[in-house]
Amino acid sequence: MADDRYDLVIIGSGPAGYTGAIRAGQLGLKVACVEKDVPLGGTCLNVGCIPSKTLLDSSELYLQARTHMAAHGIRAEGVSLDLPTMMARKDKVVRGLTQGIAGLFKKYKVTRIAGKARIASATKVVVQGEDGEQTLETARVMIATGSEPTPLPKLPFDGERVLGSTEALSLPSVPKRLLVVGGGAIGLELGSVWRRLGAEVTVVEFLDRIVPWADGGMGKALQRALTKQGMTFRLETSASAVERTADGVRVTLAGKTETTQIDADVVLVAIGRRPYADGLGARELGVAFDDRGRITVNGRFETSVPGVFAVGDVIAGPMLAHKGEEEAVAAVEGMAGHPVHVDYDVIPNVVYTWPELASVGITEEDARGRGVAINVGTFPFTANARARCMDETEGSAKVIADAKTDRVLGVHILGPRASDMIAEAVVAMTFGASAEDIARTVHAHPTLPEAVREAALGVAKRTLNI
Ligand code: FAD
Repeated sequence: MADDRYDLVIIGSGPAGYTGAIRAGQLGLKVACVEKDVPLGGTCLNVGCIPSKTLLDSSELYLQARTHMAAHGIRAEGVSLDLPTMMARKDKVVRGLTQGIAGLFKKYKVTRIAGKARIASATKVVVQGEDGEQTLETARVMIATGSEPTPLPKLPFDGERVLGSTEALSLPSVPKRLLVVGGGAIGLELGSVWRRLGAEVTVVEFLDRIVPWADGGMGKALQRALTKQGMTFRLETSASAVERTADGVRVTLAGKTETTQIDADVVLVAIGRRPYADGLGARELGVAFDDRGRITVNGRFETSVPGVFAVGDVIAGPMLAHKGEEEAVAAVEGMAGHPVHVDYDVIPNVVYTWPELASVGITEEDARGRGVAINVGTFPFTANARARCMDETEGSAKVIADAKTDRVLGVHILGPRASDMIAEAVVAMTFGASAEDIARTVHAHPTLPEAVREAALGVAKRTLNI
């Protein structure tokens, strides 16, 4: 029996699902959001962006207190780690934000439905909750079921010694030796957290570079910075077997020329994430998937089944919270008769290590690969006044512009709070700015973003402060 009738039922309350639900509420659609887990917020709020950034901020503060503050003339003796409090604070931040979504749902009249959803037809969603099954009738369905960590068949997750990112966010004590498999954002961020808290961290990466999608020079500079912080890197190496030892695990590492073994207390497998659509009934309904298990959609985010839409990690594109949010807003606006547009060329990507690596647009390697003639300007933070005040001079900013038109095609920043600085580049590129536009924009002095302006000036070979 049908219990209720909606304009839109959204499955999943991660950044894509909850943002889409809020926008639908704002547009006056009668909307329900179904979530199988108890807290709202999906991967991002519960076991992704938020807890990882909270621990990154806490561990950075700990490191500052232990090693960096002395240079500022601040003596902090007897600094010690209280891991349970650090973890409790992380949980509190997460709780506050997930409860915030519940509040926003009330404000925008989004009906929250607890349980696991299965799409019975394009107009019927069956929800299995604690109190039994209910059927929701709806004009449209939007799938926002996200992703899950990809396991490594030779190193299967065991929840104790071979861990995914979720468990690595809640270790009860600092491991002495942590092996991270995967040199992408998640591996480097969580590796950084535990390194700062005292673990010996080795990162194993199958490719010949970490953060392979990033600008090559910036990726190398990040690796140098993390090496200085005590991380060890084994590139062109794969983890090919694992065995339990008395106090941890022994992992076999197959390199280009030799096979070795490494002992660790715990292994974090962070080789990527895969789309999640288990038990959803989408395949049975005829929703098309690509060969990587992602739901395929058209320009309006509609799947091969009319009336069924999909957004976020479960479809193609970078697996990032803000990408999913943008898609969800566009898809819902389309349902309400508005134009649908997401500019995939200007989606920023950030690795929240220290220094942070933030990028938007194409890299120098991309430009070469596409045969695009470019001019490049760079500026090091050693020459940025604010970075010197902060004593955070590692890294540089790079602006890549089209050689013919001067239009900015890419911006890459390795530096303190690069995650905040990249916003300027995203706005500039969204408005089709030239490097000269950024260069002629007045920037407050002394600030870190002046490095971006100087790099933009560098495109025309006229940096001022170096
Ligand atoms: P999800 O957030 O995965 O949400 C999907 C939701 O759907 C889940 O709550 C799930 O329970 C629910 N669901 C699934 N199936 C059903 C069903 N049948 N019925 C009901 N509910 C269902 N991204 C960034 O942009 N910045 C970061 O700093 C960042 N850091 C990260 C750090 C870590 C450790 C991890 C793991 C990820 C990080 N990400 C980050 C990625 C980000 O978390 C994801 O891109 C984002 O959460 C995807 O949003 P989504 O809404 O598509 O899916």
